[in-house]
Amino acid sequence: MAEVCSFRVENTRVKIGRIFQDGVRFGCCRCATFCCRLGGPQLTERDMVRLEETDIKRELFVEGRSLRNKANGECIFLRRDLGSGSYTCAIYEHRPVLCRIYPFDLKIDKNDEWMLSLLPCKGLSTPKGESVDRRFIEKHLKPLFPQIRTLYEEKEKRKRVKVV
Ligand code: SF4
Ligand code: SF4
Repeated sequence: MAEVCSFRVENTRVKIGRIFQDGVRFGCCRCATFCCRLGGPQLTERDMVRLEETDIKRELFVEGRSLRNKANGECIFLRRDLGSGSYTCAIYEHRPVLCRIYPFDLKIDKNDEWMLSLLPCKGLSTPKGESVDRRFIEKHLKPLFPQIRTLYEEKEKRKRVKVV
């Protein structure tokens, strides 16, 4: 994916893909069409600490390194409002970093640089959405990048331990 601009987060260069040049807007419509139904998200140590602040017993929500799923594959914390038909997160204030960054994604390349890209989402390019420009990225996404890096590092560490 071609890059249109970049900035640094700590020692990492984050490249912004061309797709962001074409007037991408984002406004979540609480449809849970793609997110929240793809299995429980993976968790960082920081996510664990945030989740423990809910007073819910860890074994009730954690399976391995992820949030548990319901039998239908939805995240255990996904709730449907029967009145409006829209979906909510039962632990919204404590949700993991992967939920916070959705529908944006960071891919790391061989030079240890990051490319910001988009995941499937019904709230993208909705006319009522917020413009995904540099200000949006700095405000909503940049604070999450170090936590996403931790998630990747923790995954890589577990892979190495398995191989050894
Ligand atoms: S924790 Fe909340 S936002 Fe994250 S997948 Fe579960 S229901 Fe969705
Ligand atoms: S993030 Fe996208 S897919 Fe998920 S609820 Fe919001 S609009 Fe729907």
